[in-house]
Amino acid sequence: MTLTIDLKPSSTPKAVEEREALKAVGGFGQIFSDHMVTIRYTEGKGWHDAVLEAYGPVSLDPAASVLHYGQEIFEGLKAFRTADGQIVSFRPDANAARFNRSAARMAMPELPEDLFLAAIDALVTVDREWVPEGEGRSLYLRPFMFATQVGLGVNSPSKEYLFMLIAGPAGSYFAGGVKPVTVWLSEDYVRAVKGGTGEAKCGGNYAASFLAQAQAVEQGCDQVVWLDGVDHKYVEEMGSNNLYFVYGTGAEARLMTPALTGSLLPGITRDSLLKVAADLGIPAEEGTISVEQWRDGVAAGEITEVFGCGTAAVVTPLGRVKGKDGEFAIGDGEPGPVTLRIREALLDIQTGKAPDLHHWLRKIA
Ligand SMILES: *Cc1c(COP(=O)(O)O)cnc(C)c1O
Repeated sequence: MTLTIDLKPSSTPKAVEEREALKAVGGFGQIFSDHMVTIRYTEGKGWHDAVLEAYGPVSLDPAASVLHYGQEIFEGLKAFRTADGQIVSFRPDANAARFNRSAARMAMPELPEDLFLAAIDALVTVDREWVPEGEGRSLYLRPFMFATQVGLGVNSPSKEYLFMLIAGPAGSYFAGGVKPVTVWLSEDYVRAVKGGTGEAKCGGNYAASFLAQAQAVEQGCDQVVWLDGVDHKYVEEMGSNNLYFVYGTGAEARLMTPALTGSLLPGITRDSLLKVAADLGIPAEEGTISVEQWRDGVAAGEITEVFGCGTAAVVTPLGRVKGKDGEFAIGDGEPGPVTLRIREALLDIQTGKAPDLHHWLRKIA
């Protein structure tokens, strides 16, 4: 790595009592730590001016490209306090690699993987007191990059970018215990099509999803389930989670997750669970499932549990499925045993309670 991060610690970090009170609030994405990292990119010059400094607003020219044409990508990952008092980040190399795949798709410059990791290490080290302790709690890290070149020309991508990294304490998503969610099958809107940007973690995908999510809420549902963009028939994802279907029960249980056809976001939790399942002796494969097969499979007792997975909420059971043609329940309203077992197994690795067989933890402090 040629670039080093210039450390300029805040002169006004939060007092201990205030910080501890903020950490105790729990929730997600509302509270931020004392510092942030910024790194600039200019075509011809490359990445430069890497700085760790006090968290605060950025100043942008009104004609900055991102504000008009939406060239923006992001990542989400977590740092945990392990049982033996270490602070680790979970698979940051996988996030670095995906960040660069997103960058390539959005015609943005790639950030060297070691610089991505150095930014995370630097921020978590300086803000280590912001990493909460306790079951299911973590410091959520949000790396992102956007186009800053001034000008409204649309014929070429921006020549200037800003990479930023911010962080904030995250409580357990399910404060009162894991509860199954009700989902809405989105038939009016699609999230992504092959050849589009569905595989990239770009802000625009979210902008395009909010209307469908609002429709789900109007229908009394918690989350939207995305179907394929061509036939509106095959199940792809849930909100910003990948999905897993559990077939059978007990020693016969096996898992299936929709294959990465080009329109799904390749989740790192999804990938981790394929390996965790194998470690637990639960067969897990990638496949295809239509809404009809889902409904019939549940009715026949073949599909016994369904859950979503992603960094923020880890594993979320699905309890009810609602669509234009009616609704059906999965299970008895309680999270299923395979869902809970797989959730626990992943959390145990993340918090150092179980051995890190796949070398997923990166020690920071
Ligand atoms: C981020 C995201 C996921 C989950 O990815 P993880 O790496 O597991 O957090 C799934 N689907 C979408 C659409 C996402 O944006």
